[in-house]
Amino acid sequence: MTEENEIKEIMELPLLASRGVIVFPHMVIPLLVGRDKSVAALEEAMMEEKKIIIAAQKDETVEEPDIDDIYSFGTIAEVKQLVKLPNGMIKVVVEGLERAEVIDYLDTEEYFLVEAASRPEEKVEVTTNVNALMRTVVKEFEEYIKYNRNLPAETIMSVSNIEDPGRLADVISSQVELKYKQLQELLEATDIIVRLEKMLNLLQDEIEVLKIEQDINKRVKKKVEKNQKEYYLREKMKVIQDELDEDKSTTDEIDDYCEKLEEADLPEKVAEKVEEEIEKLDRTPNMSPEATVIRNYLDCILDLPWNKETDEEIDIKNSEEILEADHYGLKDVKERILEYLAVRKIAPAKKSPILCLVGAPGVGKTSLGRSIARALDRDFVRLSLGGVRDEAEIRGHRRTYIGSRPGRIINAMRDAGSKNPVFLLDEVDKMSSDFRGDPASALLEVLDPEQNKEFGDHYLEVPFDLSQVLFVTTANVAHTIPAPLLDRMELIEIPGYTEDEKLKIAEGHLLPKIYEDHGLKEDQINISSNAILKVIREYTREAGVRNLERKLAAITRKVAKEFVEGRDHKALVAVNSVEKHLGLPDYEHQESNLENRVGVATGLAYNQAGGDILDIEVAVVPGKGELTLTGSLGDVMKESAQAALSYVRSKQNELNLSDGFYKKYDIHIHVPQGAVPKDGPSAGITIAIALASALTGRKVRGDYAMTGEISLRGRVLPIGGLKTKILAGRRAGIENFILPKKNENKFKEIEKEITRDLNVSFVSHMDEVMELLLLEDENHAD
Ligand code: ADP
Repeated sequence: MTEENEIKEIMELPLLASRGVIVFPHMVIPLLVGRDKSVAALEEAMMEEKKIIIAAQKDETVEEPDIDDIYSFGTIAEVKQLVKLPNGMIKVVVEGLERAEVIDYLDTEEYFLVEAASRPEEKVEVTTNVNALMRTVVKEFEEYIKYNRNLPAETIMSVSNIEDPGRLADVISSQVELKYKQLQELLEATDIIVRLEKMLNLLQDEIEVLKIEQDINKRVKKKVEKNQKEYYLREKMKVIQDELDEDKSTTDEIDDYCEKLEEADLPEKVAEKVEEEIEKLDRTPNMSPEATVIRNYLDCILDLPWNKETDEEIDIKNSEEILEADHYGLKDVKERILEYLAVRKIAPAKKSPILCLVGAPGVGKTSLGRSIARALDRDFVRLSLGGVRDEAEIRGHRRTYIGSRPGRIINAMRDAGSKNPVFLLDEVDKMSSDFRGDPASALLEVLDPEQNKEFGDHYLEVPFDLSQVLFVTTANVAHTIPAPLLDRMELIEIPGYTEDEKLKIAEGHLLPKIYEDHGLKEDQINISSNAILKVIREYTREAGVRNLERKLAAITRKVAKEFVEGRDHKALVAVNSVEKHLGLPDYEHQESNLENRVGVATGLAYNQAGGDILDIEVAVVPGKGELTLTGSLGDVMKESAQAALSYVRSKQNELNLSDGFYKKYDIHIHVPQGAVPKDGPSAGITIAIALASALTGRKVRGDYAMTGEISLRGRVLPIGGLKTKILAGRRAGIENFILPKKNENKFKEIEKEITRDLNVSFVSHMDEVMELLLLEDENHAD
């Protein structure tokens, strides 16, 4: 007992012996109470003023403490809350009020009843020194919080606002994790300065301990990190190991290539090249882009059929059977092909021309190519040249180019798998040339037997032998095939089919294929002949059968769908159900306009899609003698118009035209369907008759269609594509034709089914045309 802290009040209170907990004034704390004496003490307190003195046991392990086992210095507390728990224990919340010292034990039987003297806090003047001490304590507490993660940072706020020094020490005491003996010392320190100093010392000690702890933690962490580092290195080592393994696989790869090289039995030069490249690959880092380039090259070169060849036995009889089985009609074409094969059989070494199948889309060019391969028992490859304008597409890029690859020819040979396939070059008429070189001349080298033994592809670098390949080419029209190519070719024209032929092709060839493709059997579907004819007439307008094939496939699809949806009996597609499947017709089955008209004549034209009829219109209006031509006409057609005009001028008298009529009128020649480019000389006589009609005002017979080139003097010259044109005229319902006399022999070659009921006039001069077609009329233009 110190002099400064005198005993203020003596009171009688129950005592609670606490274990491990020191209650400070101002502290609100929950306690769990279970021992009988303690429970009884609490009960007693509740009966009085709810006050109790809480003093700690000196040894917390003692179950039944005696007087001596309890510190005499404690805290008077008020019981704020008391809850009895089901297990007989009591949970209380107490608030420390003031320090107190036990003076005497009055009763120890049921509970401890003591006489205690309170030790209220005396007021201390906050001098500079005290203030400095307080601040140091707060600072150290701050430091302590930094090291002790369990305390929230806000605690510092509540502490730094405390102005009472004694209270400051007490509040901090309740926050810092101290041993309870140290806490008891703080409790017993009734001198506030001493208490603060003690607090400061304890804080510093604690901080020191925490620092050391942290240091140890760091070291432990470092150790863990070191372990992690080792783990990482070990992982890395694994990757390196894998890499090393891959190196092993590189050697495997090199071995593979060497093996393939041996097996391939390559020509000497090629083998040398391959060997060189393999060595290069061996020296190149596995993952480098360069290695990929070499690998691609090796794969390409080793894939090519340098020595693989299929046996060829040309058996004309067998070939004929195959061609016959695959295609309906095409009598001439088949014959020409067989002749060609026969010549190859008799004189294999001889330089034979290249076959070129010319015809509109869907007339069977590609499938003929396939048949030829089948007939010869050769592999078949196909390459479309449509739109090829870069020489490199034929010959490849040098390997110095990024992403370079072989040209299309070599690529196709890779696909072919043998060095003597039938190689179909589609659309040779659609190649164009520009600044990137002339693909046609590259193609010439491909086709020329003198040169193609050593065909040079830029990518390949070593020559490839194409001399065993049987090239077959196709084109829609002959006149756009580059001249040097045309020179080497033997043209076989496929003119297109009549309705009847189309019907036979559909029934005999297209439908069986279509049904099979759609998984239908003959006993499930039947499309009647009349239905097919309706499709031919009203849903297609073509020389070939491509659209017909599509439309029939569309009908079959619809029927196949019905079967999927549960249909259980055969589907009969009759003529009246075509519209149900295909919608309204695309074309009217129109008879052409057979009316007689002034200034209009019907020509027969030959174009990419086969043949067609073409009305040529001429209008004459007063003017200065200008000649205008419209409707996308090519130069040749324009020249034809000039020639026609010259002819008409030479007939001035016969036609009753006034002197210099051509200077007084402007003449406008138009060919409808302006968007479709048209060219060729064969519209000459048609233009001339339309012109004469327009100038004289005499009508032209509308039931005739004509074709023929005209010379300045009016001679009528022969034209090409005769059968195609006749077929087109027939499709349009025309029966009367005017054709050049010089084409008469060709005409006789056309199958009788096509020409039988036609009325054909063969003419050699334009005068005859005028005679036949120009009707007498009074309305003169002049
Ligand atoms: P192209 O190559 O001339 O454009 P395709 O060879 O591709 O024409 O022929 C189109 C379709 O018509 C193919 O299914 C083909 O078998 C068929 N075809 C064409 N003509 C006949 C024919 N005369 N006999 C049998 N089927 C033919």
